[in-house]
Amino acid sequence: MADDCIFCKIAAGEVPSTKVYENEMAYAFEDLNPMMPVHTLVVPKKHYRNVADELPADELAALFEAVRAVAALKGVDESGFRIISNAGADAQQTVDHLHIHVLGGDP
Ligand code: AMP
Ligand code: ZN
Repeated sequence: MADDCIFCKIAAGEVPSTKVYENEMAYAFEDLNPMMPVHTLVVPKKHYRNVADELPADELAALFEAVRAVAALKGVDESGFRIISNAGADAQQTVDHLHIHVLGGDP
């Protein structure tokens, strides 16, 4: 776990979150400030800064399995959804633990 990383702590259950889904290597929870009716964050349980970091294939697979599961659980897998992962300062990444925003629903 990275020191003082809020998403490491959320994935470890040390900071509360509204859990949506988890698998062995990924954790999904509701964004505190939803921008859309569906706005869930999917993070690897291990700390990576963003998608510019190299992830092992099994962790990448787990991350995207969680994205698919979230879309299905939230009922947007058929209607459509968007994923966004901000990486770095110019992208205005505010939490330096890789996260994928899953956004959907009628705005
Ligand atoms: P980004 O700008 O891509 O780094 O997005 C960070 C996201 O994390 C924002 O949408 C925040 O609302 C969200 N966020 C920050 N802290 C928390 C938290 N403790 N629980 C849930 N979502 C959070
Ligand atoms: Zn972290």
